Amino acid sequence: MVPVNFSELGLCDELSQAVADLGYKEPTPIQEKSIPYVLMGRDILGSAQTGTGKTASFTLPMIEILASGRAKARLPRSLILAPTRELAAQVADSFEKFSTYHKLSMALLIGGVSFADQNVALSKGVDVLIATPGRLLDHFERGKVLLTDVKVLVIDEADRMLDMGFIPDVERIVGLLPPLRQTLFFSATLSDDIKKLSDKFVSNPKVIEVAPPASTADTVAQHLVWTSPKGKRAVLRNLLRSEDVRNAVIFCNRKRDISTLVTSLKGHDFSAVALHGDMTQSARLDALQKFRDGDVPLMIASDVAARGLDIVGLSHVFNFDVPGNAEDYVHRIGRTGRAGKSGRAFTIAASEDDRKYLGSIEKLIGKPIPLIDAENNAEAASDSKAKPPAAKVRGRGRSSAATSPANNTVDATPAGNAPANEDKADGNKVIAGRSRGSRSRKQHENAPGELPAPPECSGDTLQDTGHVPAFLLR
Ligand code: ADP
Ligand code: MG
Repeated sequence: MVPVNFSELGLCDELSQAVADLGYKEPTPIQEKSIPYVLMGRDILGSAQTGTGKTASFTLPMIEILASGRAKARLPRSLILAPTRELAAQVADSFEKFSTYHKLSMALLIGGVSFADQNVALSKGVDVLIATPGRLLDHFERGKVLLTDVKVLVIDEADRMLDMGFIPDVERIVGLLPPLRQTLFFSATLSDDIKKLSDKFVSNPKVIEVAPPASTADTVAQHLVWTSPKGKRAVLRNLLRSEDVRNAVIFCNRKRDISTLVTSLKGHDFSAVALHGDMTQSARLDALQKFRDGDVPLMIASDVAARGLDIVGLSHVFNFDVPGNAEDYVHRIGRTGRAGKSGRAFTIAASEDDRKYLGSIEKLIGKPIPLIDAENNAEAASDSKAKPPAAKVRGRGRSSAATSPANNTVDATPAGNAPANEDKADGNKVIAGRSRGSRSRKQHENAPGELPAPPECSGDTLQDTGHVPAFLLR
């Protein structure tokens, strides 16, 4: 298929320029398929995996549609609903960038931000209102916003809305909108539940389904590491040291484990922030900002906080815990390998439950997750209970068979795409350290083949002879 450019989709020159400024060369498949229909005024039921540019699929044509006309006080002309504060803020950010050459006004209604500021924006009249359902209803109940002039409604990340139990709120909101409107319904997955749900909101939609549900992007190289529950932190640290990590999201299943892991990583001189639903809004935004700006390279997150998040050029995702829900796996690793960039994902497994979860993940993604072995990783090797003992996939481009706990035969990592730790496999290459010159940490001086002390009580372990990427240090 001949690639098209943005203007061929019917977008004006200003919008083509705005996307060009952002470095977008051509539309992604969901954009190419959706934009012309949105411009025609059709309802859309759109699905494409995370990271494929769904936001621009609706924001760009909306800007074009809204370019003519003016907003009246308290009567927004369009409404975008997103499930979380972060996602709503992200859509607002995109909207702002895409509309540089347009004079459109926007308000963002999310929890944890003062009502007063949001009120001022609403009272001036907005072309686009971007909101989480709960906060929008709060404003509505206070009489600060009327939805009777909304011509375009977007329900973004609909599958997430469903997971999070927001559908009743969304239904209430939609009941406040004029029935004659355009509705754009986007979701990463298009399950039967989601299709059924969409019937309530869209009318005669153009259905656009780009990728099969829950497929993982080819741009993410996936890896699995087995260890024991106690060996997980050490395995993680070694991966952080041996991989060429520019920035990474590390997922935990439980919120309480997030702060423990942050503390532990900081104790080993890594710089990390937490992101989960129990944090205050300002703490969440602050953490996210530091991470986005590259001030802190590691973000330890829960599923709720991080689903749908778009971090430009994220190099790695680590599953510190195997997610119990297979779709969460797809969403987690979908944080990297976005927009055609390559990314790497590592999953650390350690228990019988994990084995079970991995079974359903591999079934969902339709392939085994290639197993690597932590043998070359001095800290992890100290864990004699690491499973499965026989499994080994080493080597750049080598295709040694290995047996995973789920009995999968796995391929070696493709040539040129192997974990960086092969070169550093003698376990003494990289290390985190606040200041290499002045470090006074104990270091292990094990003879080759000798196991270092158990990682959890060992302080730092590897010899500090290699390069320490500065961004990993505080
Ligand atoms: P989704 O909502 O499908 O998960 P996003 O809309 O958040 O994905 O987009 C993911 C990333 O891809 C963002 O960083 C966005 O700026 C980038 N992106 C979107 N469209 C394009 C494009 N046509 N070319 C290059 N990058 C793009
Ligand atoms: Mg999105």
